[in-house]
Amino acid sequence: MFVDTHTHLTYPTLRDQLPDVIDRAKAAGVTRIINVATDLASSEIVIESVAKYDCVYAAVGIHPQDSANLPSDWPERLRELLSQPKVVAVGEIGLDYYRDFSPKETQIKIFREQIIIAKELGLPMILHDRQAHDDIKQILAEIGYYRGVLHCFSGNAAFAQEMTDLGFYISFTGNTTYGNKKTDLAVQAVSLDKLMLETDAPFLAPEGKRNETTEPANIPLIATKIAELKSLPFETVEAATTQNALTFFHLQ
Ligand SMILES: [Zn+2]
Repeated sequence: MFVDTHTHLTYPTLRDQLPDVIDRAKAAGVTRIINVATDLASSEIVIESVAKYDCVYAAVGIHPQDSANLPSDWPERLRELLSQPKVVAVGEIGLDYYRDFSPKETQIKIFREQIIIAKELGLPMILHDRQAHDDIKQILAEIGYYRGVLHCFSGNAAFAQEMTDLGFYISFTGNTTYGNKKTDLAVQAVSLDKLMLETDAPFLAPEGKRNETTEPANIPLIATKIAELKSLPFETVEAATTQNALTFFHLQ
């Protein structure tokens, strides 16, 4: 039994065949899926999806690259979305200095406000960090809220260690199968009680399927790779990552 802790089932490639995607996930043992929004419009869509599918849960929030040109009442609208059934996290939120669709100052302002909302509501955060490690760490420390998962982890082993010591969780995607030494060492540095699995579907298909759209059914391939990198039995990785996800997101 697995949890795919980060997917974007709102993308047309997945959304147009969602019943099949869910069936294939279940057949692969992936019994719970978190559908993650990136703005107010996709937040509405993920909330619709959780009503239709028992196994789907929602995270709602504003992605750093969607932080520009928000309506002035976005915080109230976000709070309303967060109060809906099966909404289990604020996400995905964070900073992305790799691309510049939204100015850095805007990203920081919107990220900060969403951490404060998550803290106030006691909700976990799904964090997006692209080339922004220092600012992410500093802003979270200023607000003093550490209930988050660094999704699609892209830092090195030392940063992984530093963040898990603070209490953060780390999740890995199909990028663990690409043979990148830095990622391999980061996987090895994260203790099993802080590790979660995600496909980030439709992105980052595992090796061997890179010309396909990835989907939750591929989670066991990521678990296999992590078990190999950590020299652990597959079942140990399966049990620990599933338990971490159930606890962290308070899933039923
Ligand atoms: Zn994502």
